[in-house]
This record gives sequence, structure tokens and C-alpha cells, in this order.
Amino acid sequence: MIKMKYSLGFIGGGNMAKAMIQAIISNGVLKAQDIIVSNIDIADLQKTKKELGIHITLDNSEIAKYCEKIVLSVKPHQYADVIPEIVPFVNEKSLIITVAAGKSILSVQKLFGKEVKIIRTMPNTPALIQEGITAICRNEQVKDIEMGAVLKIFSSFGKVEIIEERLMDAVVSVSGSAPAYIYVLIEAMADAAVLNGLPRDKAYLFAAQTVLGSAKMVLQTGMHPAQLKDMVCSPGGTTIEALRILEQRGFRSAVIEAMDTCVQKAKNLS
Ligand code: NAD
Repeated sequence: MIKMKYSLGFIGGGNMAKAMIQAIISNGVLKAQDIIVSNIDIADLQKTKKELGIHITLDNSEIAKYCEKIVLSVKPHQYADVIPEIVPFVNEKSLIITVAAGKSILSVQKLFGKEVKIIRTMPNTPALIQEGITAICRNEQVKDIEMGAVLKIFSSFGKVEIIEERLMDAVVSVSGSAPAYIYVLIEAMADAAVLNGLPRDKAYLFAAQTVLGSAKMVLQTGMHPAQLKDMVCSPGGTTIEALRILEQRGFRSAVIEAMDTCVQKAKNLS
């Protein structure tokens, strides 16, 4: 049965929304019954209800009717479809939270055609296990207390950094999209280990734990990545041999060029 008020509503119940909702509930920041999600995909919606115990609706306008905090968690190009559906129900109390790559606050404001409180965020899917990182900024209509409430929600699934909006496209590449590059790296590392005889399950374990441990070394020691790299490279040893090939094959420049293309794509989405 539909309630008349929810603490948080999501329009679009895909991968990013589900990762955030699961973390918010499991950390006790909100209860499942305080969250409502709309989606055009009824089968997925019912599955989400079963898995997470949240309220669901096929009607996007109900999210704006019954929630003050509204997360637009559809794909960037779908903003133009869903915003007109909710415009009549968005008022001075509504807080629009975007998660879309490349959608500037101004472009979202234009789709509403009126002054709206907008918080722009860029989360990532490790939110699912509370290891996400979210960049966040707001327009001047958003009050400190409202920003504080959203920061609390987003902190429940990882780190949160307030940044200038002009830096959001760089964040899309370095954290929003980046888990995909890391999964490819882990897969490639595991393939190499399998090539050399390690069983597949052990190969993923060794590769993934090494990525995790290396990331923690950067975060927890505060040492420069180059210094940490030098600590692994014994003179005349095995590691420097591997690095020679990575440099020869343009590993660094492949990463930089790929990420820069990602940024350009985000810039073109607005
Ligand atoms: P997704 O395709 O998994 O989810 C989109 C959801 O929107 C689907 O459930 C779809 O059925 C629903 N939808 C489509 N049209 C709709 C409509 N008219 N009304 C209601 N629901 C509708 O996509 P995703 O990966 O979850 O991405 C969603 C947003 O999150 C995007 O804007 C993306 O830029 C952002 N984001 C995603 C990631 C990520 O890693 N997936 C990271 C950061 C930000």
C-alpha cells in the first residue's frame, strides 16, 4: 500500500540506485519502508521490492508527490523524459539529487524550467559494499541543512568529497566509470596467472586482494604511488621486468587517453 510520505525517492531503479539503496538500508541510515523507487521495468521493480523491501511504483510523478528528496537515477539521456513528468509536483521544498554523468546543474535546471534546488553527485557502484566515493556539489538554492542531510545519506556508502562543479567530468572518469577499468585489470591479471598454472578462483583472489591492498597502501601510508612502486622493484628483479613491458606497451598512456576520452564523453552529455 502506498504511503503519503517517504524520506527518499529514486526515479530509475538500476545498478546505481540499487547499490545506494542497499547500503543506505544496511547501514541503518533509512529504513526500507522510508524509500520508494519508480521504474518502467516492472519485472525489475518487483524483484527489487522482494530483495530490498522498499516501496515501488510505475508512476514517476508519485516520487515527486510523496518525497522531498528525489534522486534522478536514470541514464543521462532519460532526464529529458522523466523531468517533465515530475515538474508539476516539484515545489520549493523539493530537493533534486542527480547522479548522471555529464548532466550539469544548469542543464537540469533548464529541463525543469523553473528554479529548483539541485544537488549534483557522482557516486560509484562500490557503494554496494560501503566502499564507494561520491563527489558532490549544489546550486545556491540548496540550504546548508539540506546539503548536510544528503551528505549523511551519501556517507553511508563510502567517502564523500565536496568539489567545484567544473571538476565533475574528471570525477566521472576517475571514480564513476573507473571500477570498470579495474575489473578489466583484475581479469587480465588473473588470465596471466591462469596462463602460468594458477587455478581460476585463486587467480581472481590473488589479483583482487592485491588491487585492494595496493589501494589501501596509497590511502593509509600517504606515500607517493611512485615511491610505493619503487619499493616493489628490486634491482635486476622480476617486477622491473614486468614494468618494462607495461611501459613499452604504453600502459600509462593507454590509461590516460582512455580516461580523457571518458571525460570528453561526459562533457558532451550535458
Ligand atoms: P541502469 O540502466 O542500470 O538503470 C537505469 C534505470 O532507469 C533502469 O532500471 C531503467 O529501467 C530505468 N528507467 C529507464 N527509463 C525510465 C523512465 N522513463 N522512468 C523510470 N525509470 C526508467 O543505469 P545505471 O548504471 O544505474 O545508471 C543510472 C545513472 O547513474 C546514470 O545517470 C549514470 O550516469 C549514473 N551513474 C552510474 C554509475 C554506474 O557505475 N553504473 C556510476 C555513477 C553514476
